[in-house]
Amino acid sequence: MTQLTRDSLARLDQDDALAPFREQFELEAGLVYLNGNSLGVLPKAAKHRAAEVVEQEWGRGLIRSWNTHDWISLPERVGDKIATLIGADAGEVVVADSTSVNLFKLASAAVRMRPGRRKIVSEPGNFPTDLYILQGLEGFLEGEVRLETAPRERLEEIIDEDTALVVLTHVHYKSGQLFDMAALTARAHEVGALMLWDLSHSAGAVPVELNRVQADFAVGCGYKYLNGGPGAPGFLFVAKRHQAELRQPLSGWFGHANPFAMSDIYEPADGIKRGLCGTTGVLATSILDVGVDIMASADMDAIRSKSRQLGDIFIELVEQHCAGYGFTLVSPRDANLRGSQVSLAHEQGFAIMQALIARNIIGDFRAPDILRFGFTPLYTRYVDLWDLVQALTEIMAMREWDKPEFQKRTAVT
Ligand SMILES: *Cc1c(COP(=O)(O)O)cnc(C)c1O
Repeated sequence: MTQLTRDSLARLDQDDALAPFREQFELEAGLVYLNGNSLGVLPKAAKHRAAEVVEQEWGRGLIRSWNTHDWISLPERVGDKIATLIGADAGEVVVADSTSVNLFKLASAAVRMRPGRRKIVSEPGNFPTDLYILQGLEGFLEGEVRLETAPRERLEEIIDEDTALVVLTHVHYKSGQLFDMAALTARAHEVGALMLWDLSHSAGAVPVELNRVQADFAVGCGYKYLNGGPGAPGFLFVAKRHQAELRQPLSGWFGHANPFAMSDIYEPADGIKRGLCGTTGVLATSILDVGVDIMASADMDAIRSKSRQLGDIFIELVEQHCAGYGFTLVSPRDANLRGSQVSLAHEQGFAIMQALIARNIIGDFRAPDILRFGFTPLYTRYVDLWDLVQALTEIMAMREWDKPEFQKRTAVT
């Protein structure tokens, strides 16, 4: 690649077919936001929608809005839109609860569908909540199933005839490394196990084809690339072929066949609605809907191609400008093996990130030493990469990270 300049990157922005999307988001001038993989930005339309739901649907409509504004079908309506982003069909996805809770529901249901098998397989270093939830399930079903983990190179070996379920995160939250979804799903099926994908760092970031790879289950997050707002509900996917058999343990009334019959006996709804538990968070789900609409209006191939290029250029810039400062590339260099983020390791990673944040350039830090930069093609500009790497170079050259205020740890990194 030739020497990059701010001008050459500005030209890429000019020619970028996705550039107009940036206008749809609230982004303060001068801010470089590279953390949309942790908390997506505010869509301008969400402010209007939030006011409308609060003032009209809740304020005026009150309880009538369950019918008049069709709150009751909101989890399925937003779920159907998310389905288009992850290669699922209508009726296979609902929005509900958090990713953690959805994982518990589906992992429990999956284990029940493979009676006699005693293993759940995952990888060490998976996103903490995924492992914690599986440990919780292991404790709950004491003696019946246990969690076994193995690093990627050995995963296929430990998936065997005793495995009920394999739970993996498609794009790794720290390294950005991408699993071969088709190959691992096929491996799980080869031994009769079920496959559950966590799409938290995939939905809205990389193309996903759940049905093409014949995935059984999936969960994912609403507040990252889908821009659903802090603590937005998550979603869950159950392939049509498994829905009739699905019995998830959080059998609350919203998953009932006829909640308002007020029967004493739980009877699961037909289809994906049985994945629900309790009352829908109407405000949060209505706002998530706005983010999902924007994402669904963009071309996923264009998103992927820009995201790969953003990652490649960032790596190139770091190599051109930051050589000798002690950074190592943690993410795969090959864009085919990488999600929409690039991570660098540095022993002063925490302080360096604080120094960047003080300059209004926001990425995040993941212990023990990872600086993580998320690229969100709907609003990340090519020139942002230039400004980021210039700032990084100055912080390193002037040892700005060594200031005491940047060494002080905060509760949330
Ligand atoms: C962000 C993320 C979650 C979040 O779970 P919550 O229940 O929303 O806190 C779960 N899994 C993965 C892989 C994530 O990246």
